[in-house]
Amino acid sequence: MRKFTFKGGIHPFDGKDLSKDFETKTLEPDKLMVYPLSQHIGAPAKPVVAVGDQVLAGQLIAEAGGFISANIHASVSGTVKAIEARTLATGGKCNSIIIENDEQYTSVEFDAKDPATLSKEEIIERVKAAGVVGMGGAGFPTNVKLSPKDPSKIDTIIVNGAECEPYLTSDYRRLLEDGEEVVKGLKIILSLFDGAKGYIGIEDNKPEAIKHMQELTAGEDRIEVCPLKTKYPQGGERSMINAITGRTLNSSMLPADVGAIVDNVDTVYAVYKAVAEGRPLTERIVTITGDGVNNPGNYRVKLGTSFKKLIEVSGGIKGEPEKYISGGPMMGFAMYSIDVPIVKGSSSLLVFDHDDVADEETTACINCGRCVNGCPSRLLPQTLANLAERGDKEGFAKMHGLECVECGSCSYVCPAKRQLTQSIKSLRRQILADRRNKK
Ligand code: SF4
Ligand code: SF4
Repeated sequence: MRKFTFKGGIHPFDGKDLSKDFETKTLEPDKLMVYPLSQHIGAPAKPVVAVGDQVLAGQLIAEAGGFISANIHASVSGTVKAIEARTLATGGKCNSIIIENDEQYTSVEFDAKDPATLSKEEIIERVKAAGVVGMGGAGFPTNVKLSPKDPSKIDTIIVNGAECEPYLTSDYRRLLEDGEEVVKGLKIILSLFDGAKGYIGIEDNKPEAIKHMQELTAGEDRIEVCPLKTKYPQGGERSMINAITGRTLNSSMLPADVGAIVDNVDTVYAVYKAVAEGRPLTERIVTITGDGVNNPGNYRVKLGTSFKKLIEVSGGIKGEPEKYISGGPMMGFAMYSIDVPIVKGSSSLLVFDHDDVADEETTACINCGRCVNGCPSRLLPQTLANLAERGDKEGFAKMHGLECVECGSCSYVCPAKRQLTQSIKSLRRQILADRRNKK
């Protein structure tokens, strides 16, 4: 069987066995649900409800605040108690709508339609109305992604099922449990691009998912399941496009510039729900795992529920964990509080009883070259980190530092435990901010 791959990359401990074989359970939501108005890239959504209003599950509570923005819907029925700033998983604050859950789950009526009867514009409008955004963490509004400048140039639609971040298994469960809907979602997207072919990219450490999706797509001329070599960061947009099409992107290009659109598995599932069933994005699958959790697994979670509730339901924590991470261990972020809401991009909560990184002592570079070999962007991380530590923006840009995808591979493999990614990321973001401010 042909295996697709890219140059560079690393093989971290994958930790997926902790949660991958348990069927997804449904999490009971909180009594007080919190809906931040920024759950996506772009302008915050604008509330269309007021304190005291009664709302139904699935009702629009905040509308997109601009072209790059997304609608937000209530995931429970109840009463709007407040619209106020609340802390997010990142530690920042964001204006949020707080709904007291009446625990009746009375829902609006969803407007189901046969996708075959809809025009391309109607399909995109339904994706937009449902507030679908990239659920792999990027949060880019999906209706915008599905509306490239020249749709006739798009020949490749990739469903990103790599899930290359260690420990995460929510996409894997989605493929196994709802693979049919994922295929239907891909067919809906393909109906927008007449000349395109669909690819479902899955790493070869998930043979059951590969087999299942191959069975579901047997006889589909326009869809191919692509087994990918297991290697981090295979699920990064650039690595994925390169592995499947051989095309390369740089930091100033969009996937559409090389004829491709990449959507995460859960996003494609949400597209199906939005277009065929008229259901807005109000829930997702979240992995809770790590050696600090009693019962790792996956949960179907109504957005707005707290991470704290997720921990309680999964059997609580063991001892006194040192680290909570939202997202994967390579590209996720440490959480300062678990009493924060699960939002559209929250793929997981990792709980570790020990913070290995905090204990590591940094020593001098031994010029082993491991960071160079592991870098998927073919950069010289040790040189870039030196330039970043000196604040040499010009030298950093000349050495192509902006091409860094912040994947964390260089730090992971460095035997001297240098915090390469942290230094590179910090200067890279400063340069990008400088450029934005000059415009
Ligand atoms: S974080 Fe940047 S420099 Fe380091 S391996 Fe990833 S792409 Fe390369
Ligand atoms: S991996 Fe670490 S020690 Fe090896 S060359 Fe890179 S910075 Fe130096």
